[in-house]
Amino acid sequence: METLQHWAGGAALKSTGDRLGDVTDPATGQVTRQVAFATEADVEAVIAAARDAFPLWRDTSLTKRTQILFRFRELLNARADELAAIITSEHGKVLSDAAGEVARGQEVVEFACGMPHLLKGSATENASTGIDVSSIRQPLGVVGIISPFNFPAMVPMWFFPIAIAAGNTVVLKPSEKVPSAALWLAELWREAGLPDGVFNVLHGDKVAVDGLLTHPDVKSVSFVGSTPIARYVYETGTAHGKRVQALGGAKNHAVVLPDADLDLAADQAINAGFGSAGERCMAISAVVAVGSCGDALVEKIAERARGLRTGDGRRGCDMGPLVTAAARDRVSGYVDAGEAAGASLVVDGRGVSPDAEGEGFFVGPTLFDHVTTDMSIYTDEIFGPVLSVVRVDTYDEAVALINANPYGNGTAIFTNDGGAARRFQNEVEVGMIGINVPVPVPMAYYSFGGWKNSLFGDTHAHGTEGVHFFTRGKVVTTRWIDPARRGESGELDLGF
Ligand code: NAD
Repeated sequence: METLQHWAGGAALKSTGDRLGDVTDPATGQVTRQVAFATEADVEAVIAAARDAFPLWRDTSLTKRTQILFRFRELLNARADELAAIITSEHGKVLSDAAGEVARGQEVVEFACGMPHLLKGSATENASTGIDVSSIRQPLGVVGIISPFNFPAMVPMWFFPIAIAAGNTVVLKPSEKVPSAALWLAELWREAGLPDGVFNVLHGDKVAVDGLLTHPDVKSVSFVGSTPIARYVYETGTAHGKRVQALGGAKNHAVVLPDADLDLAADQAINAGFGSAGERCMAISAVVAVGSCGDALVEKIAERARGLRTGDGRRGCDMGPLVTAAARDRVSGYVDAGEAAGASLVVDGRGVSPDAEGEGFFVGPTLFDHVTTDMSIYTDEIFGPVLSVVRVDTYDEAVALINANPYGNGTAIFTNDGGAARRFQNEVEVGMIGINVPVPVPMAYYSFGGWKNSLFGDTHAHGTEGVHFFTRGKVVTTRWIDPARRGESGELDLGF
């Protein structure tokens, strides 16, 4: 069986250790390959490749750097289907979803193609008599990116196009559950003409992560994953003097007001609740039905949920499997717990008959009604296709519920009342808001990030905040002697 190795200095780098992880095809349950887990020596070698490449890359002209970005974009456009197929084979999401993920990543590449404009500083003439002041932004050096399993391509691409275009060199530590996309992207960079060592991949688990968090040559860490690990990454990385942005978990609510278009709300609840089998940090997992709309809304969501086809993502199904057997068991356990706690189980996804060969990790779309805030299906991030409907009497109760939640990634409101929507966007303590839009993922030229336990650090991903994160500012104050006064100080030997 194939064993995936690290990628450093433009080529595969064999691990010095023998710890391996299994990579499975979640639709069939088959182990398809293995991935090497980094040793401390591997961490050292991969970071050294990135460090050695930095001086040359940093001094490569912006024109040249941008041309490579454009080439990468063209190659990715031409071969996006290959990457989508890899994502589906290791993550399980349906092919159209995987293609959508690649497209969102590509938008960040396109944003990064505008780096010459984004890196422009400012200048002031005659700040004081004969004194000029200018500001510039420079790359940091080696930057670390640690990504989760649920977006094997898009999440790394939130960061590396901008980091690379700005002149940094990258060590990407992908999730060990979905390691192939990162290696495919590394090969694409090589084809695009990126110098060896600018983009590197370090596979593994905590050893690899801790290596990036503590190594003095790594200047920043961009992390996306669950909240406990995000907190750990933020605390450890900053304690070691690094700039850290650590995006964590989520529990996203969609509020439906009684005046909303309930068909639209139900369609969107299906997309946002069951897309990617609920394995999205922007998934809606709680629908808050306000006032009188609950019964009709639940009926519409249930009817649609029952019509979804669950199965192998390569067979044109609506929803694929969960990523591992453990994830499937965890999600089923939450459905058991919700039932035991007294929530009404309207659609039960346990025991679904998937359209797939083998022993894939499936749970079908699951809908609970009359969920209360003390139940684990409400309090926990399930990260599966389980949608809970919570009923409240008023708008104020709905907002209070969201603001009391420890997470603050995304939220949405469905209403036809502009005034209510305006109040919601003002009052709700969440980083990304959708108004009649259930998954309000910002475009690449805005920045992505939540509040509270959904993000540690103060810089969101991509957009201008991303450019800021991957560069640091310098201000230059200059006095040049007027030519008329030349000679007063005599000839100097400057030693060049
Ligand atoms: P995870 O936290 O288990 O893993 C994320 C990364 O951390 C992986 O690369 C993994 O190898 C590493 N890791 C895992 N355990 C570690 C440990 N003990 N020490 C050091 N490193 C460790 O997350 P996941 O299960 O891969 O991804 C799902 C989670 O990511 C969900 O909570 C989801 O909400 C979150 N997520 C958040 C966003 C966002 O933008 N806020 C986006 C995508 C996913």
